[in-house]
Amino acid sequence: MNLNKQKSNALQKRAFKSMPLGVNSNFRFWGEGITPYVDRGKGAYLWDVDGNRYIDYRMAFGPIILGHSYDEVDAKVHEEIDKGVLFAMTSELELEVAEMIVSMCPGVEMTRLACSGTEATMHAIRVARAYTGREKIIKFEGMYHGFHDHTLFSTYAPVEVYGNRNNPVPIPATSGIPRVMHDLIITTPFNDFELLEKKLKFLGHQVAAIISEPCMGNCAAIPPAPGFLEFIREKCNEYGIVFILDEVKTGFRIANGGAQEFYNLRPDLATFAKALGNGYPVAALGGKREIMSIIGQGVAQGGTYTNNKPGVAAAYATLKLLQSQPILETIRQRGKRLMDGFEKIFREAGIPASVHGYPAMFSFAVGKEKVTEQRDWADTEQDYYLKLVEAAMERGVMPDHDPREPWFLCYSHTDELIDETLNVMADVVKKVNR
Ligand code: PLP
Repeated sequence: MNLNKQKSNALQKRAFKSMPLGVNSNFRFWGEGITPYVDRGKGAYLWDVDGNRYIDYRMAFGPIILGHSYDEVDAKVHEEIDKGVLFAMTSELELEVAEMIVSMCPGVEMTRLACSGTEATMHAIRVARAYTGREKIIKFEGMYHGFHDHTLFSTYAPVEVYGNRNNPVPIPATSGIPRVMHDLIITTPFNDFELLEKKLKFLGHQVAAIISEPCMGNCAAIPPAPGFLEFIREKCNEYGIVFILDEVKTGFRIANGGAQEFYNLRPDLATFAKALGNGYPVAALGGKREIMSIIGQGVAQGGTYTNNKPGVAAAYATLKLLQSQPILETIRQRGKRLMDGFEKIFREAGIPASVHGYPAMFSFAVGKEKVTEQRDWADTEQDYYLKLVEAAMERGVMPDHDPREPWFLCYSHTDELIDETLNVMADVVKKVNR
């Protein structure tokens, strides 16, 4: 079977002339002749411009938690935008969104809205620096916190260039980051208690923040080792460091109150985006009152579009739905069946694999039974993973082309779609040569 890609390829050729790589974000470029261009989505389905229909497991990199073009969210957005989209004035609707975020997320006493995850983490880092009067930031290898220059280090590079594991070198993920930023970032492998402790012994009192995703949401959803997030919490208390939990992918997805509810964890600050608005542009940073209330006391945070009506209306509708129906529990049950099914497929095929993450957001790595950080994930069988993904796409199931990106579920992935996906994966694992 070969997918028809005629229109996608024609659009790509045309797009090359006006957009770098023919896309509006580097991550959406899969290569020449293999990058699909989208027509529309509904529920868990996505159609490309050639009319190929897929069960979508990319969910736009995670934001779609209910389903594409979800009627109740879109209706609220339509109702609100008819009254105007932007006023540079605060509305009751955004206050209600803030109140819902505070009531749902146990570590959030105050919040401010933003438009994207990049903005939310950028603001959180500024607040942490302002609060502590320190400048250095610790981040974990393989984690991604947005496109700003503060943390875009040791994210996507081949791990061979990260230096010795005991003494890693922060590697910028792009040209254009000023040299001075290198001096402000400290990188260390995720899930290594000892190495984090060692860094803190030398430099702890210069560190403004440790920023961490709850799991490696940008490296195959590798989960935290038991106690690791709690260890970060403890060490932040010891050294007076702000713990920023980057919940851009986990927030309003793995539990109504995100990872902080899931792990019963209280970060100092947390960042949200993605599932908060089911795909509309809305984000938030929030956390302890003592820290958040320095905003406006000599600390700047804002933006023309931070209360844009489509984003705020979508967040309002999405959070109301999450609060009133067992949406995330339903996703959890279906996702668990999918994860268990994948595990069984690999086991029965005699292929060593680690299927890990949360049911709403998981991935698998082939060739190892366990992975704990980017360095050991790097020598799993990614070429084989890619072959599986391409074969699944041929059969109408679309995970991301990048093995680092998790499989995302939404409420519209029905039990029937889970069964269909399991059949496709069983067939693909049987037919694709490892
Ligand atoms: N933080 C995490 C954990 C993310 O996964 C992402 C994006 O994938 C971001 C921040 C940046 O969010 P955005 O793409 O909305 O700027």
